[in-house]
Amino acid sequence: MSELPYSYEAPASQALFDRAAAVTPGGVNSPVRAFRAVGGTPRFMVSGSGPYLTDSDGREYVDLVCSWGPMILGHAHPEVIAAVQEAVARGTSFGTPGEGEVALAEEMVARIEPLEQVRLVSSGTEATMSAIRLARGFTQRSKVIKFAGCYHGHVDALLASAGSGVATFALPDTPGVTGAQAGDTIVLPYNDLDAVRAAFAAHPGEIACVITEASPGNMGVVPPLPGFNQGLKDACAANGALYISDEVMTGFRTSRAGWYGVDGVRPDLMTFGKVMGGGFPAAAFGGRADVMAHLAPAGPVYQAGTLSGNPVATAAGLAQLRLLDDAAYEKVNAVSAQIQSLVTEALTKEGVAHTLQNASNMFSVFFTENPVRDYDDAKKQESFRFTAFFHSLLANGVYLPPSSFESWFVSTAHDERAVQRIADALPAAARAAAEATA
Ligand SMILES: *Cc1c(COP(=O)(O)O)cnc(C)c1O
Repeated sequence: MSELPYSYEAPASQALFDRAAAVTPGGVNSPVRAFRAVGGTPRFMVSGSGPYLTDSDGREYVDLVCSWGPMILGHAHPEVIAAVQEAVARGTSFGTPGEGEVALAEEMVARIEPLEQVRLVSSGTEATMSAIRLARGFTQRSKVIKFAGCYHGHVDALLASAGSGVATFALPDTPGVTGAQAGDTIVLPYNDLDAVRAAFAAHPGEIACVITEASPGNMGVVPPLPGFNQGLKDACAANGALYISDEVMTGFRTSRAGWYGVDGVRPDLMTFGKVMGGGFPAAAFGGRADVMAHLAPAGPVYQAGTLSGNPVATAAGLAQLRLLDDAAYEKVNAVSAQIQSLVTEALTKEGVAHTLQNASNMFSVFFTENPVRDYDDAKKQESFRFTAFFHSLLANGVYLPPSSFESWFVSTAHDERAVQRIADALPAAARAAAEATA
């Protein structure tokens, strides 16, 4: 690895990374965590409290990743931890139905009007995989439309032109996904309704569903242009296909009712994860009751899970959702807006070409002066500037997502002290970005 301009020693993390590399491919259990896009030593975290993470070397960071979204109340929120401790003391898994999963489903359904029924699963990947299976079973059609740069988990059929880690590594197509698995996937440019209409015209009666991130955050933050989601919904309705809104990232984060609460476009099916699990593996898919009725045991489309609706995970998720009232969203939105303006101010002051984009309290910075409307636009940014910016912030105690293709996340726990630490670290990071060379 070449010398990094702003790296510093992280010996305890490096020792753990070396141990990890011996027993785990690349030393991590999810690729972006390995820091390959930015270089350097991934920080092995030992604890989190509010807006802060502490690494194995005892260094504290203001966390702008929040576990990739879930920790919207900050780390180790006392009421969430209490709910988990209470649940865990009663036993960790029964393999039977339980009240916690009912209560969590009721809370979700109460918040999102088009969400008539939900099925709980354990990861966002499982949620989108199951939603697509259900859409295919319901419509008795095989083709799926997805958008380049949208990430829906590592579902075989949905890995074509995915964002997130796939974008980070510029993997064209993933080995291990067969032509048969990917052959029914139609990948279109994001925010391009003409392409969607043309695909429906080219494949009459064959398209089961369109799946889209409600507001994409896996190629950086690229919100839908006005009318795009409604146009998708209308094209689906006109052609007998289902509109699946993937709210794994936006759900219960961008508002009480997720992105649906922002744009009001009614999906046929929706998927959830991240915030609804309160930091545990809990996810869900759901929507129209007549479609969900096709799911086993009510209907013929099979789907199951040993740990689905796990009592500890549902207790954490429910405790977190119950704390997420209007005041909480106002707080997250306000602190997000404050950090966004600090970032813009610092980069502008150093004359760094950039575009900051947001979707409610999710945001990211693209190192390009042009607006980013799709994955091709996102790939045109000067990622080398992000690398310098990232490492300068890291050295000064601010933890950003280690890739320029990811959203940044804040929480209700990001208070004045945390914001001040970011403000103090930004000028040097902006200078580093300005001085970076490809
Ligand atoms: C994170 C994410 C997923 C995958 O969820 P996992 O729990 O990581 O499997 C799916 N869709 C979107 C939009 C996501 O952001």
